[in-house]
Parts: sequence; structure tokens; C-alpha cells
Amino acid sequence: MARGPGAAGGLGSDREGLGVRGLRIVVAEVVDELLDADGIGRRQQALDRIDARLGRYSFDTSTPIAEGTWDAAYWSAQCALTAADLVRAYRETAYALCRPPGHHAGVDFYGGYCYLNNAAIAARYLQARVAILDIDYHHGNGTQEIFYSDPAMLTCSLHADPDEEYPYYWGGADELGTEAGEGFNRNWPLPLGTGDAAYLETLDEALAVVRDFGPEYFVISAGFDIVAGDPGGGFKVTTAGLAEIGRRIAGLAGHVPTLIVQEGGYLLDELGTNAVAFLSAFVRQDV
Ligand SMILES: [Zn+2]
Repeated sequence: MARGPGAAGGLGSDREGLGVRGLRIVVAEVVDELLDADGIGRRQQALDRIDARLGRYSFDTSTPIAEGTWDAAYWSAQCALTAADLVRAYRETAYALCRPPGHHAGVDFYGGYCYLNNAAIAARYLQARVAILDIDYHHGNGTQEIFYSDPAMLTCSLHADPDEEYPYYWGGADELGTEAGEGFNRNWPLPLGTGDAAYLETLDEALAVVRDFGPEYFVISAGFDIVAGDPGGGFKVTTAGLAEIGRRIAGLAGHVPTLIVQEGGYLLDELGTNAVAFLSAFVRQDV
């Protein structure tokens, strides 16, 4: 094929000490061919197509927008805000069963089935010093991004190691916040297959950080996809383990008004049982 340094086209003399220059010319030829739709049967890219425009804001391709999507996302956020009002008014725990979830959505991007970050919206709405603890199987990259430079918001996340799991490009232990928010973002990536003992040990570390922060409100991004068998997860936390996770969080929540926001948790027969196991820890025994 007549392509490459020294090929037809008189590149030979250009190669003398300028190999890179020859390479540039070759690349330009290929680009010209790609742009020639008739030549290779490829259609021209239209970057104003709707899917291309959505790609400016979505960081994956798993989160479609359809008729009704905005209504669902809007009312999911309103659910979290209503629960935040209850927490503020009664100084107790409230649970917001939000669908769609929110913790992957950032200031100006969506993805991971999340459009609006319900937990972050509610935390900001509370206008106070808030600690957010994300126990979903996946890293809460949207929540981290929203508050990354904010020292009034402590964001903590336990999740599957992003080298192995979605969202892949966020969630390392070395992501600690920036500017005034440096030190107010903490991540605990855990290996696939993590079970009750290792999870609870790490949770205790996170709860100690939350306690030291001294929040006025506590927001839990609760994902039940950490339980063994969840089709979207890869941990081996048991239902009993999830109940214990609830008890340890509730131990802190007993002193700090707490909002629990539903994140992940997928098609598993025991999903309802798991939700009850976790939430029961927050039910007051004296009512
Ligand atoms: Zn998840």
C-alpha cells in the first residue's frame, strides 16, 4: 500500500531527521479518507444529533431520557426534600424512597440511572453542616463532585474498588477534596467479594470520621446493592450484616437528625427483607 514514510508522494526527503513529520502526513491521509463518506461507506457524523447532544451531559450510555423522565427525577428530588423538612422539623430520622436514585449525578452531568442528586439537593437545602455517608455498592461520584471544595459538607463513601467497578474513574482513597474542602471527602474502596466483617470494620472508620466532623445533620445514601446476590453488586454482605450496618449508623443517628435517601438496590427477591432489616434499626422503640 502506498502509504507511510518513503512511499509514493515524495516523502523520502522529508524523513531525513524528521520521522515525525512523515507520520503526521500519513495520519492526515487517513483522516481525509474517514471524512470521505462515499469512499469507505461511512456516514458523516452529525454532532447536533440528539444522542450527540445528550453525550455532552451524560458520562455513560446506561441512562436514557424518555417521556416522563423529568417528572420522575423532579419528584424523586421532591421526595428527598420533603423528608429533609421532616428531619428538620422533628429532629428525627426520615427515609426517602427515591426513584430514580441520585448519587451518580453531579452539578452538570448525569449517568448511572441518576439525573438529579437527591441526597445532595436535600443536604444543600438543609443549609447546615452536613455529613453524607454513602453506603451504596458504587461510589457516589456525583455527590463527591458537587461538594468537593466545600468544607461544610463532609462526604464519605464506602464502595467497590473503582479499578474493578462502576463508575471506574472516581472513588480512590486519595481523592480527599480540594481548596477549602481538602480533607472533607473520604473514600473507602473495598475489594470485590467483601463480606460482613471487613465491611463493618471499614464502616466503623467512616463513622469515626463523621463523629469527629460534628455534623448538624446526617444524610445516608443507602444502597442495598451491597448485599450478596444483588445483580448490580459484587459484595457478600448478608441480610444480618446489613441489619448490623443499620444499627451502627443508627447509633450515631440517635444523636444527629438523619435523612436516609434510597440509592441503588436491584431485582433481588430479598430486597424488601433487606430494606426492612436496615431501616428497623432506626425505628424508635418508645413509640
Ligand atoms: Zn449502586
